[in-house]
Amino acid sequence: MAVREVEDIFIDIIDRTKTIDPANARKWFDRLTVSHLDGGSLGIGCPDEATVQFLQDNCKSSFTRAAQQITGHLIAVDFGVDTHEKPDSSSRRFESGSDGPILQKKHGSTEFAEVKIAPPKLHPDYTFDNFVVGPSNRLAHASCVAVSQSPGNTYNPLFIYGNSGLGKTHLLHAVCFEAQRKSNGAVIQYLSCEEFVNRFIRAIEEGNLSGFQSQFRTVDMLVIDDVQFLREREHSQEEFFHTFNALYNNGKQIILSADSPPGKIPSLEERLISRFNWGLVTRIDPPSYETRVAIVQKKAHLRGLNISDEIAEYIARKLHANIRELEGALTTIYAVATTTDKVIDLELAQIALEGQIKAAARHISITDIIEVVTSHFDVRLADLQSKKRSQSITEPRQICMYLARNLTKHSLEEIGGHLGGRDHTTVMHACSKISQAEKSDPQMHTLLGELTKQITQTPKA
Ligand code: ADP
Ligand code: MG
Repeated sequence: MAVREVEDIFIDIIDRTKTIDPANARKWFDRLTVSHLDGGSLGIGCPDEATVQFLQDNCKSSFTRAAQQITGHLIAVDFGVDTHEKPDSSSRRFESGSDGPILQKKHGSTEFAEVKIAPPKLHPDYTFDNFVVGPSNRLAHASCVAVSQSPGNTYNPLFIYGNSGLGKTHLLHAVCFEAQRKSNGAVIQYLSCEEFVNRFIRAIEEGNLSGFQSQFRTVDMLVIDDVQFLREREHSQEEFFHTFNALYNNGKQIILSADSPPGKIPSLEERLISRFNWGLVTRIDPPSYETRVAIVQKKAHLRGLNISDEIAEYIARKLHANIRELEGALTTIYAVATTTDKVIDLELAQIALEGQIKAAARHISITDIIEVVTSHFDVRLADLQSKKRSQSITEPRQICMYLARNLTKHSLEEIGGHLGGRDHTTVMHACSKISQAEKSDPQMHTLLGELTKQITQTPKA
């Protein structure tokens, strides 16, 4: 096949892959290259090893299907680092998608570390560039940047904690990328705590504890995600303690994440708690509305999706518990838009997300809504439930109904029940009245946004 032809076919394959796999489709797919397409095999060139790993682990079958659909032939797909793009020889240590252990050269010295360590598996999207900084994560982000600039010298250990889906793993990967970029020879070990424990157990079973130990005690940077997994694992805690000491005493950087601060991890040994507290312990909070809007925009951009501010704000207003939900929303919108061949507008977004938003709303109760609304208008619940019909009472009452309808899954009857036993037609009337006001009156629009923000950001037990 002529080169031109191959490249055109490859563009079609990329486009098809994106439709087949909307969850993983990324704009940077367009920068992948084709190394060959012949004899039933397609070689795809990637900018770096992280991308190779990511595609290998997540996208191989969708690329394979796409290649088969476009060419009409059975095609085996393979990913590798495109060495033409990056003549820099230092990055060739990681050539091709081998999972296998490789020998790594120690940075700044001529001796080889006698350890076989596979390159860390990093998600290509989880870089500092792709991380949106806001009040909820500013400190965690700044400490990660500091550590990546000068490992072992600033905060050691660095301990980041926060609920699931708030960006801990993203930041940890970003530190690894940055540290790797800054000193290409540094030996970085990134893994989940679960993997650490599993490898430890396997090493014991295979009678190769010393191999395990040298693998972890000789790295330049050890990054362990989700250390709450150490709970109730006494032997692993013991081993981890010694690993920690060995690295710490040699000035090597240790970075840890967990779902709670060290002292709150159940049955974690006292001596580990105290070590985890030696450096900097920093928390990530749920993102504010503004940060969520920025994250939606950032993620949309990564996927090459054009969404208006209106849509980004809509998604951020409706989904708030967890950033994964925001990403899920984009995937859904993308999938609906490509399968129906429609442009992405607010209406499409609203229809596509109906189910997801209802599910997310389960966690908010009518009581949460009433609390925020009564305190904003400085009225009492008893007034809302009374027969009073003055404007100062009717409006907050109707707003409660409207927000309950929007943010919870309760029926019209249930909502009416909470507000003085009103019937469903009253609730319906209230909802349509406020919804019209939201469209025609900018003040009402802002007020509803404010109230929603307060309701959705009140921490739940
Ligand atoms: P955790 O490890 O805390 O459970 P993750 O790091 O896996 O959370 O984050 C979940 C998703 O949210 C990831 O796709 C991540 O990129 C995204 N995310 C979280 N925080 C941010 C942020 N501040 N900016 C951009 N993306 C973020
Ligand atoms: Mg994580």
